[in-house]
Amino acid sequence: MSVTQQQVLEILGRIKSPRGVALTNANVLSAISASDGKVFFSINVDAAEARAWESIRAEAEAAVRAMPGVTTAMVALTAERKPGTAAPPPPPAAGRTQGVQPAAAHKHPHPPGAASPMSRQAEIPGVAAVIAVASGKGGVGKSTTALNLALGLRDLGLKVGLLDADIYGPSVPRLTGLRDKPELNAERKMIPLRRFGLAIMSIGFLVEEETAMIWRGPMVMSAVTQMLRDVDWGKLDVLVVDMPPGTGDAQLTLAQNVPLKGAVIVSTPQDLSLIDARRGLAMFKKVNVPVLGIVENMSYFQCPHCGTKSDIFGHGGARHEAEKLGVPFLGEIPLHMAIRSTSDAGNPVVDSEPDGPHAAIYRAIAGGVRDQLKGTIPAA
Ligand code: ADP
Repeated sequence: MSVTQQQVLEILGRIKSPRGVALTNANVLSAISASDGKVFFSINVDAAEARAWESIRAEAEAAVRAMPGVTTAMVALTAERKPGTAAPPPPPAAGRTQGVQPAAAHKHPHPPGAASPMSRQAEIPGVAAVIAVASGKGGVGKSTTALNLALGLRDLGLKVGLLDADIYGPSVPRLTGLRDKPELNAERKMIPLRRFGLAIMSIGFLVEEETAMIWRGPMVMSAVTQMLRDVDWGKLDVLVVDMPPGTGDAQLTLAQNVPLKGAVIVSTPQDLSLIDARRGLAMFKKVNVPVLGIVENMSYFQCPHCGTKSDIFGHGGARHEAEKLGVPFLGEIPLHMAIRSTSDAGNPVVDSEPDGPHAAIYRAIAGGVRDQLKGTIPAA
């Protein structure tokens, strides 16, 4: 039987705040989401007291996780910045994040964005390289690229995982056709779902899309940390992380706290998107994550009937930009019906049309990524 909000509140009533008040009376709890044995909520405190609250957060999470019927418990510590020190407003694509600091950042005095190797979380045991696929804004085909790149890496003989951290619009369930809830192993770690030979995890497997949409920065970080560390990834050469679009606070914190070996930036040729891509480059530079390269998606239009190429967006902008910035250019993916229809039907093109031209393009991009990761993952 799965737990109710009321049962969770009863347990939380037994836990005391740093000032000795029961959590349920301390006026710090967010709404509690409890469905299907999955419990999520946040503890919202003043940033100045955040350090004292971290152990309470952990205690609350452990207590809820130990309740019979609970399969997943995620408790985030949300620390509001004092007025006047708030972060600049996030770009529209990340418009739901706010000027808050994540729980993970409290252990370290560095604000998000301050480059500090100390603020990086430990590597994930068994995973040789974690790489991010990012974009400066939504809708450029980042998730489609992340999945097909993961499949391209698989085709190079690598063991690959995919983590959908696009909390604002987890699309991996749609792109893979996977809808099941992950099971727990004996150590109560989530077992990633498997499809196309990939180990796959998405926040979309755990919560309804609308729930994820209203999460704030710290909740995002907490959810992603849990998907990185409370998941039994097994042995992987590469774990591809599909990042939330944009370059706001939540993205920056993720880039800083996920132990990334590098990042791939997806852009479309339109100038606006390239400006956004440049922001993405700057973001990874700030947190000392090497940019493995830029991919130009929807680079040119390829007619599905006659194969004629049309440069409807003034193709080649990303290659030019990459050269200017001294960042590797990984490849161009056409705007093509087959990529859209296979993607949206849960049969990504690299898997469903392995001998076609698009699969070859993604494999070439995967080869470029592998070259960039030389020394970290098995070479050709
Ligand atoms: P993002 O993750 O950047 O929001 P998605 O990967 O979800 O973007 O892609 C947005 C839409 O564009 C989806 O319908 C997807 O199928 C389509 N799409 C992505 N790349 C291509 C492409 N190269 N050709 C045609 N359609 C594409």
